[in-house]
Amino acid sequence: MRPRSLTILVAFLATGLNAIAQMNPEERAAWNKPVKPFRIIGNIYYVGAEGVSAFLISTPSGAILLDGGFPETAPLIRQSVSELGFHLDDIKFLLNSHAHYDHCGGLTELKRRSGAKMIASEGDSTYSNGGWTLNCFDKTRPFPPVRVDRIIRDKETVELGGAILTAHLTPGHTKGCTTWTMQATDSGKAYQVVFYCSTTVAGNRLIDNRAYPSIVSDYEQSFAKLQNLPCDVFLGPHGSFFHLDEKMAALQSGRQDAFVDRDEMRKFVDQSERDFHEELTKQERALKGSGIN
Ligand SMILES: [Zn+2]
Repeated sequence: MRPRSLTILVAFLATGLNAIAQMNPEERAAWNKPVKPFRIIGNIYYVGAEGVSAFLISTPSGAILLDGGFPETAPLIRQSVSELGFHLDDIKFLLNSHAHYDHCGGLTELKRRSGAKMIASEGDSTYSNGGWTLNCFDKTRPFPPVRVDRIIRDKETVELGGAILTAHLTPGHTKGCTTWTMQATDSGKAYQVVFYCSTTVAGNRLIDNRAYPSIVSDYEQSFAKLQNLPCDVFLGPHGSFFHLDEKMAALQSGRQDAFVDRDEMRKFVDQSERDFHEELTKQERALKGSGIN
C-alpha cells in the first residue's frame, strides 16, 4: 500500500468512530452553558443548555422530560425545572431522542432523582440480565447506564394528562433514533410540534459497517419519513438545528409565535439529505482510493 493510500485509509477509518467521542473539553463546556428556561409554545418548555436541548412538557398529571444532555447537564436541567416552578418529581416519563451521551448522559441522574419511568426504543437499548438499559456511554466520564422501563415502537404513544407524544423511529444517526411529535395548543390554536432526532452522519461509518449493515437504507427511509411529517414547530436535540438563539431573542422581544415556521423542517431535512449523500460519496471514494475494496 502506498503512503497516500494509507493516509486515506486512516482518514476513512477515523470516520468510523463516533465524532461525539472526540469532542474536546472546551466545545463540550460551551455546549453545556446554561440557558434561562422559558416556555416555547403551549405546554412545552426549554430546560436544556446552549448546545444540547432538553424539553419539559407539562400536564395536569405531571410532566414529561425529553433528553437529559451530558451527565453534567443534569444539574442545569434540575435548576431550570425548578426555576419554572415545577418539581423534579413532577416528571413521570423520561424520553430520549437518541442514545448519544450528549443527549442521554444526564438521564441516569435525572431518573434517580425524579423516579420517572424511562421510555426508549429497542434500537438504542440493550437487553441483559432480564432488563433493558439505554445504550448510553461516555468514555471520558463513565456513569451507570439508565434502566429502560418501557420499550417504545414505531407509532406508539406516551400519554399523560392529555398530552400525547408519538414515537417515529427514524434510525441512521443511531439504530434507535426516535423523532417525537405532539400537538400543542397556544392561544386557542393547535400546532404540530416535531422533536427531531438527528440525521447527521456525525462520524458514522456508512460503508461496510458490520455493526450496523442497514445504516444507509435506514438513513434513506428516515429522510423519506421525515419529509412527510407535518410540522409547525420544529425542535431538535441541538439548538443550532432550529435556530434556538434567534427564536429565543424574537420571543423575548414579544413575538409570541417565534417558534412557528411551517417550512423549516422540510428545508432542514432536504439539506441533511444532501449532506448525507455527499458524505456517502466521500466515504465510497476513500474506500476505493485505499484499494481495500
Ligand atoms: Zn447524536
